[in-house]
Amino acid sequence: MNNRWRLLAIWLLPVGLALFLGWQVVNNGGPGRVVNAPSLAARNSAVARMTYGRFLDYVDAGRVTAVDIYDGGRSAVVEAQDPDLENRVQRLRVDLPGLAPELISRLKDKNISFDVHPPRSTPPLLGLLGNLLFPLLLIGSLIFLARRSSNMPGGPGQAMQFGKTKARFAMEAETGVKFDDVAGVEEAKEDLQEVVTFLKQPERFTAVGATIPRGVLLVGPPGTGKTLLAKAIAGEAGVPFFSLSGSEFVEMFVGVGASRVRDLFKRAKENAPCLIFIDEIDAVGRQRGAGIGGGNDEREQTLNQLLTEMDGFEGNNGIIIIAATNRPDVLDSALMRPGRFDRQVSVDAPDIKGRLSILKVHSRNKKLAEDVSLEMIARRTPGFTGADLANLLNEAAILTARRRKEATGLAEIDDAVDRVIAGMEGTPLTDGRSKRLIAYHEVGHALVGTLVKQHDPVQKVTLIPRGQAQGLTWFSPDEEQMLVSRAQLRARIMGALGGRAAEAIVFGHGEVTTGAAGDIQQVAGMARQMVTRFGMSELGPLSLEAGNQEVFLGRDLMTRSEVSDSITNRIDGQVRLIVDSCYRETVALLEGQRPCMDCLVELLIEQESLDGDRFREVVQNFTPVPEKERYSPLMPASS
Ligand code: ADP
Ligand code: MG
Ligand code: ZN
Repeated sequence: MNNRWRLLAIWLLPVGLALFLGWQVVNNGGPGRVVNAPSLAARNSAVARMTYGRFLDYVDAGRVTAVDIYDGGRSAVVEAQDPDLENRVQRLRVDLPGLAPELISRLKDKNISFDVHPPRSTPPLLGLLGNLLFPLLLIGSLIFLARRSSNMPGGPGQAMQFGKTKARFAMEAETGVKFDDVAGVEEAKEDLQEVVTFLKQPERFTAVGATIPRGVLLVGPPGTGKTLLAKAIAGEAGVPFFSLSGSEFVEMFVGVGASRVRDLFKRAKENAPCLIFIDEIDAVGRQRGAGIGGGNDEREQTLNQLLTEMDGFEGNNGIIIIAATNRPDVLDSALMRPGRFDRQVSVDAPDIKGRLSILKVHSRNKKLAEDVSLEMIARRTPGFTGADLANLLNEAAILTARRRKEATGLAEIDDAVDRVIAGMEGTPLTDGRSKRLIAYHEVGHALVGTLVKQHDPVQKVTLIPRGQAQGLTWFSPDEEQMLVSRAQLRARIMGALGGRAAEAIVFGHGEVTTGAAGDIQQVAGMARQMVTRFGMSELGPLSLEAGNQEVFLGRDLMTRSEVSDSITNRIDGQVRLIVDSCYRETVALLEGQRPCMDCLVELLIEQESLDGDRFREVVQNFTPVPEKERYSPLMPASS
């Protein structure tokens, strides 16, 4: 806000000058002229003009009937009869040399009615004020701005000073969040419980000579409750909560970030004990000197300032800094040194128990029907973060309101889960060739998934479009299972290829569609990992890739690849081998079940959706369904 004002002032200055100069030029249009009301010329610009000589001729000829004199005798509007136009009365404008007495007497002689309209002039004093008004305003506003900034904490009255702002960080005296509001991250809560004690009873630690840690780094994916945890610490300890996002530190102007850091710490010291929360610290805290084309001066300055401020704490002065990031790997090592963010607490996506307790927290203020069990929702939502679950319950509540129901039921929860995972529901296709093709594609996925023993069981097949997908097959993976076997990976590849294989069998190779693009990408990814990471190919147990870590530009791209060209070729060969053999096996499997496929497709087109049990029932009529080993939640596998 303040900055905007100051920017405005700078921008105003040249514009103000220009306007001021323009004003002067306009006003100096004629000697002795004061600010005039819009002159006659402007008012009667539509009236035709006549020369002064002609006007005199008309007067002599007795054709003029009336004269109105304006502007102190400088112009007039004349009413004259035109003999050429059957003596019609015309109004004409004449410029006069001045209000000459001869003209007046001449008009009197000819008995022409005339009137003199006084110039509408402003009194001289007002005119002067008018001229001064703009510069005065300008000077006034500059003084105002200067005073504003001198009123701000820690700023001498310099008007055009950037970055001295308090508006960029938020302070909450009371967050109102307690540890009870954060669920499913019990280990993190335990670790952070100590931080609450540091803030509440520092004496307990200082008495035995311990130094209280200054910084804690919360590491975890977005939406897992890092911000919420930081607020809960402040809430539990009853201290003010200062927060700032790393991306807000870094601005266009060099030095702004550093001065923001200074301001933030100054304010925090005034309010100690308190908690400072720096979100997205990776935005400022990236390894210095990294990045293509050298470092970023502004960011490095900001980071240096942050480090300096953290070092500058005189021991135990009651400020604890909590920072959050989901990329600890890119942080500058100086940040992690003892005395800075030397404690790391990881906040991971919750497991099934965690999800259940998060659901309990968020369903406190929601009306749920009898048939809804939170446990069932927790089971259906592997991989969901706290934010996803909060969103899920909210979506379900919205659906409930839209359907004018009293309480959220199973149907709403189901729809909300589908919606959160796969996107908005679209309108089903009308029956036709493409609907039939999509039905075969989905049945292909589901049938392979059902008949290959190691594949996750089918949860649902549907032709109702969602998000990008025209149809979806949902499988229920086993969440508890941590390790995946080679047979399972092959089964997944076959399942993903099932859609394309069914298209090709039924419609021929010329008719296969782009709908399988996503499946094929998945297949390629899985097969590649089998070769390069899991050692599941003829190349043997070699690690040929550094895992699926995200690349940090400037550090990773610059390092030499550890894999030679010939190995790269052999990897490609192995990937192709795996995919080819899986595809052949899939086609053989589906070709053998053509009557079963046809039957399932008819049923699916008729009913739009088939749940897993019904699907298996139908398959059982044609061929035995192998028993799957375990049972738990669901996820979409392929579309
Ligand atoms: P992060 O900072 O890790 O990205 P947030 O703390 O901003 O995540 O979480 C966003 C919202 O999601 C919270 O306001 C809360 O409603 C919900 N949420 C996330 N994690 C949890 C959790 N562990 N327990 C309860 N609610 C959570
Ligand atoms: Mg956050
Ligand atoms: Zn598919």
